[in-house]
Parts: sequence; structure tokens; C-alpha cells
Amino acid sequence: MLKKVLYGIWIVIFLLFVIYTAHSANFNTFLDFLENKTFDLRQNMLPKKANSSIVIVAVDDASYEYILDKYGEWPLPRDIYAKIIDYLEAQSPKSIAFDMMFVKSLKSKQDADLTFTNVFKKYNNIYTAMNLDNQSVELRFPAALPDKLSVNVQNMSKNIDFDSLTFQNCRSILPEIINSTENIGMINVSRSDDGILRKMPVFVKYQGKFYPQLAFKVGMGLLGQNQKDFVIDKKSNLILHDRKIYLDTDGSAILNWYGSTGTYRQIPIYMLIKAVEEGSKVDYDFSGKTIYFGTTASSLFDIKTVPVAKVYPGVEIQATYVNNLLDNNFIKRIDKRITTALSIILAIITGLIVIKLTSAAVVSLSFVSIYSAYIITAYYLMKYQNLWVDIVYPLVLGILVFISAFIIKYIIKSRDFDKQYLLATTDGLTELYNHRYFQEQMKMQVEQSKRYNTTFSLIIIDIDYFKKFNDTFGHQAGDSVLRQVAQILKTNVRATDIVCRYGGEEMSIILPNTHKDISLSTAEKICKRVAEKRFKINNSQEGKVTISLGVSSYPQDGVTPSELIDAADRRLYQSKNNGRNQVN
Ligand code: GH3
Ligand code: MG
Ligand code: MG
Repeated sequence: MLKKVLYGIWIVIFLLFVIYTAHSANFNTFLDFLENKTFDLRQNMLPKKANSSIVIVAVDDASYEYILDKYGEWPLPRDIYAKIIDYLEAQSPKSIAFDMMFVKSLKSKQDADLTFTNVFKKYNNIYTAMNLDNQSVELRFPAALPDKLSVNVQNMSKNIDFDSLTFQNCRSILPEIINSTENIGMINVSRSDDGILRKMPVFVKYQGKFYPQLAFKVGMGLLGQNQKDFVIDKKSNLILHDRKIYLDTDGSAILNWYGSTGTYRQIPIYMLIKAVEEGSKVDYDFSGKTIYFGTTASSLFDIKTVPVAKVYPGVEIQATYVNNLLDNNFIKRIDKRITTALSIILAIITGLIVIKLTSAAVVSLSFVSIYSAYIITAYYLMKYQNLWVDIVYPLVLGILVFISAFIIKYIIKSRDFDKQYLLATTDGLTELYNHRYFQEQMKMQVEQSKRYNTTFSLIIIDIDYFKKFNDTFGHQAGDSVLRQVAQILKTNVRATDIVCRYGGEEMSIILPNTHKDISLSTAEKICKRVAEKRFKINNSQEGKVTISLGVSSYPQDGVTPSELIDAADRRLYQSKNNGRNQVN
């Protein structure tokens, strides 16, 4: 019982150690890295249907060539956008968003810029971008942004802080745009340590105020919501009118992806330029669509790596974000405490299976089944509930527990084996080797002495008048004397000598590599020690016993175990006949 408790304590200490290690910073970063990879894998295996109301007008490689050819430079003169917008608005799209920033530059022409900025006054469904950064405040005086662009965010979650989404600087866009519209959103991104973009900010912080993300603004506009005050609840959910968006620790929303690049219909911008400049027709109906302008040409550098593609244009990320909002399927990550609890439950089940079940095959099969079931469940929870259930942490803990439980089981088993072996070879009363062991050892000694041409001896001991002793003092006193005699035998021989209980009150000693004369003197010594000993009979009485001994040696008295035992027995008989308490 005590041993079991001790094992239990050891297992608990080991588990605590494993959990502690698993929480150490480096190991945790590594696990996070792996977990992110399983997220990517799940996202790649789960192609979801993208919302077909989103269309991208792309400055693709062909358009870039066309623009350089026609206008001799990029960016495009901005009055062209004004014409394109007029052309598109004629078809009544839902909204038009530019994943582009219109900053003042030497190349931009004043009148072209003015023509373009006017469309923001003309149509209320046009959106454009700004970006915040942390470039040196000394070099650029950080612009103040108008109040109408900011929102109020009340963050009640302890897990979320906006530190990494707080910026010092702002590259301001054309003042005519800033002054004429509220439809300006930030396009800052949030990358994981491995450089892969899995999530996007909802709000970024600048000069103590929160500014919404462009895609968030576009999506909210499409949902017909004009919220200015936001609350993030204790469970890290951003509360919207009729839904919740789970936010990660840096305040970003984890995106659900809809497959590799090209998921959204792309119209190269040159087709629209041709339409407005040359009157050609674009074979696409923009009515009711959300139109996103952005660059996809690799030379224009708005390229990121996301779970579903190594090369993924920023504008498609914006489209994915709006899509998540429209279809209400942002990813929600399961609480860390739930993951820890699940991991421990699975680990305990694993530990119990390993310890309780005997067949290694069944144990391994159960382990694989349990964790496969867990992984499959995690997969389907992402598919149907948009839930990100951690896989790596529970699995790593499970494997560690599986291995250590196996080791512990092995140790327990080998200890059991030692115990069984001891039970099988010793005598319970005297703790001497038993008769079976004696017989085995006799055989072995004969073999060895034969092979190496050496000698060994055997002493057989019988207590004198023991029947009478029992009759006088009782069987329990007799047992006690047997134990004490056994003790005397053990303490008066070499460590290599084998002391056995031959049977009843007879004992034997095998003395390997020992000649007759040495064995005789050993036997004499023992005889004397026993005769001198005052045996404790009970609390008040002491008594005396004597023993008779017979000695035989290999090879002069016999060359088989039975010949040697017979010879020793005959000598013992002789001792008895000659008056006992002696050696022969
Ligand atoms: P002797 O050997 O001197 O001829 O006389 P003895 O009375 O010892 O005779 P024997 O060896 O034939 O008798 C063996 C007695 O030892 C019988 C039994 O009462 C006692 N005996 C045998 N095994 C045990 C045991 O395990 N415990 C106790 N208390 N007595 C035992
Ligand atoms: Mg006897
Ligand atoms: Mg006897």
C-alpha cells in the first residue's frame, strides 16, 4: 500500500515537472510554432466557400505593364480612379474599397488629385486606407487624426493588450480625403513569430485613441452597422450588434481562410482603364458587389505569406477579412485553461491505460486511437464551429506521459519480478534459501567443480532433541530457535557460502571452493557457537540447544549431488550416534 502511494507521488511529481517544462518560455515558443503549423494544415485541408459578392480589381503584372506603357509611370494619375469609380457606381456596387494609400507625392498632379478626392464627397460607399508606423518621430511630425476616424474601445479582457498595435507615427494621406470622409481604415497587419500572417488587427492605437481596420470598416458598412463604441468582454470577445468576434492576445482577429490565392474573382485594372479611356466593355457585372482595389503585381511589394499560400497579395487578405465579417466565421481560439485541462485528462487516461493494460499492442492501439479521435474532433470543430482547439500541447504531454508510464510500469514489473524470485527461492520462517534452491545449487556446484577441476563441501545440520524442545517449550519457541540457529549459520560462514533450510529442523551449507579440512573447522565453529548460545525462548526464559553436523566434500565423498548428500547424512547420523553436539 505504502509503495503504491510512493509510486503515485512520484508520478505526480513527474507530471508537475513535465507541465512546468512545458510552460517554460523556449519550449512554449516551440510548441506555439508547431501549433500554428497545425492551424495552417487544418486551414489548408478545409477549403471553405468564399463569398462571391467580393471582387478584386487588381493592379496585376499585366496592368502594371499596361500602365507603365500608357502613362510612363506608376502610380496611376488619380483622375483615372475618379473615372473608374463613376463607371462602377453606374452599376450600383455595395462598396468600393482601396487597399491603397493616397499620399501627397511629387508625381501626383494637383488637379488630378482634386478630381479624385471629390469622389469621396460624391459617393458615401468609397473607402480608402491609411497606415500607422513607428518610424522616427523626430524625422516626421506625427499628424493629428480627426476625431471622426477614431472609435471608443473598452477592453475588459485580461488576456488582451494593444501594445504591439500601438503606433507613434502616421503617414498622412491627402488632406482632402481626410477632411471629406469617415471611410478611412488602417491597414496595419499582425504577423506571428514565423512571419506568417494568420490574424489581422481590428483596432490600432495611435495617440491614445483607437482606429479601426479598413476591412473591419468596410465589413461593418456592409452589415449596415455604424457602431462607435465597442466593448471587448472578459472572454476576449469583441461584442458587435448581433455577434461576437474572438480576439487574440494582441487584439487581432484570427482569420478563417478560403483557399489559396485567386479565390476571389479578379478583374485586372487595365480592363477598367480601357473601359473608361477607350469605351471598351468589361464583361463583369459589378452590381451589388463589394469591390476591393489592390496590387497583386509582385513588383509592387504588397505580398504576404498566409496559412493557405506563400505568396498572397494584401488585397486578398482584406477581402478574406471582409468575407469573415460577412459570413461571421472568424476563428475562435479555445481558452488556454481548457486546453490545459483537456491535456491533463487525456494524459491521465493515457497513464492509466499504460499501467492497467498488459498487452503492449493494445496499449499502443488505445493511445493512437484516443489521440486520433482528439485530432479528428479538433479538425471538425474547426470545420463546423470555426474553433481552434490546440493539438500540439495535449499531444506532447500525452507522448511524455505515455513514455514515462511505460518506464514506471517496467520498473514496477522488474521489482515484482525480484520479489517473486525471492519468494520462490527462500524459506519464509528462517529466510534461508529453500530446498529447491539448495538442489539447484548442488547441481551447479557439481558441474562447476567438474569443469574447473575444483572442490566444494556440504554441511548438513540437525538440531538435537528438537522434538523434546518443542514438547517442552511449545512450537512457537521452537520456531524462534530455528530462526536464531539460521542466524548463527549465516553469520559464521563466508558471503559466498549458501545456507539453506533443508527441511524441518535440518539445515545445510554449501561451501564453494572449500576443501574438507576448512569445512570441518567451519562446522566445528558453528557447533560451538550454537552450543554456547543462550537462546531466547520468551520474555523471561532462555534455553540451550545443540546441533549435530555431517560434512562431505567433492570429489572424495561423491561426484553427484545425491552421493554427496548421502555422505553428509551418514556423517550426521554418526554425530548423532556418538552423542550429538559434534561434527563428523
Ligand atoms: P534428534 O534429531 O536429536 O535425533 O532428535 P529430534 O527430536 O530432533 O528428532 P528429529 O530430528 O527426527 O525430529 C524433528 C523434530 O523437529 C520434529 C518436529 O517437532 C521438529 N520440527 C521440524 N520442523 C519444525 C518447525 O518448522 N518448527 C518447529 N518448532 N519444530 C519443527
Ligand atoms: Mg531431524
Ligand atoms: Mg533433530
